[in-house]
Amino acid sequence: MDERSKTSVEDRFVGCLLGVAIGDALGMPVEGWSREMIRMHYGVLAEFQPSPSRGLGPGQFTDDTQMMLMHAESIVATGRVDGDDLARRFVAWLRSGDVRGIGRSTILSIKRLTQGIHWRESGQAGEFAAGNGVAMRIAPVGLLDCQHLERLKEDVRTAGAITHHNPEALAGGLAVAYAVARLSTGEAQPATLIEETSAFVGECEVSHSLRRAQKLLESAVPAADALQVLGTTGYVVHTVASAFYAFVRTPDRFKQTVIEAVMAGQDTDTTGAVTGALSGAYNGVHHMPTRWLEQVESRAHIEKLARRVYALTVRANATAD
Ligand SMILES: [Mg+2]
Repeated sequence: MDERSKTSVEDRFVGCLLGVAIGDALGMPVEGWSREMIRMHYGVLAEFQPSPSRGLGPGQFTDDTQMMLMHAESIVATGRVDGDDLARRFVAWLRSGDVRGIGRSTILSIKRLTQGIHWRESGQAGEFAAGNGVAMRIAPVGLLDCQHLERLKEDVRTAGAITHHNPEALAGGLAVAYAVARLSTGEAQPATLIEETSAFVGECEVSHSLRRAQKLLESAVPAADALQVLGTTGYVVHTVASAFYAFVRTPDRFKQTVIEAVMAGQDTDTTGAVTGALSGAYNGVHHMPTRWLEQVESRAHIEKLARRVYALTVRANATAD
């Protein structure tokens, strides 16, 4: 039995949600930067840094984690993925004055909610709605549905539809949620994760791009070049493939994986968040760097939410027996 197989499912839940916050916080100060700029300014970006221009300190996260936490909080409050409850939380967040970045489709959709449009109709459609908004925030849904993969599809559609009616944005969210589900229960192996996930998601640009990531993993291309080929922009087809690539390349090394993802530049906080979700779900909280765990914002709150989502999955299984 190797070290990872002894990690408990509950520790993987905690690792997954803290992984989102950590990856987001590491990428936060360099969002929108090129990889050359990051290298010139920081060398290797291995410590949390502040962003004076955003008014955020080291270890603070952005909208990716804020929205992920709304999902986790909603699941804990309602016991399920509830579109009405989530939509209310998104509106309250937009009005809160603490919005640390927001994607185009997300802001337009939440504004539609405030105009009284139903959440099933509020999401943005069209080619410009293939952003990262669903993939970056969906991890708690993967955890909740880790034993119910058919329900997972439905729940990702429900949660995603509030902001995105684009098939690729939803496919990207489904890919991340599925991988989180399979990794958190310890059932998926990194070597076959991409093939398994692509098959689950079905034919689309996201699964094509995931298969391209698998091919790059099998070749001798350096990681930085592979991430450049796959892309780390605000386009979900890029981000999801790059996050899977970074995780599968070094599955046992949470720290190296997240650093590599962020150092690729562009949409760094989101690439970091998605990569952190995958690697955290696989490694569990006990295999994540103590220094990052100590410094990341809201650690205790995030950990408590992850444990509550875990308790919900245990209770649901007990009831089903
Ligand atoms: Mg962000």
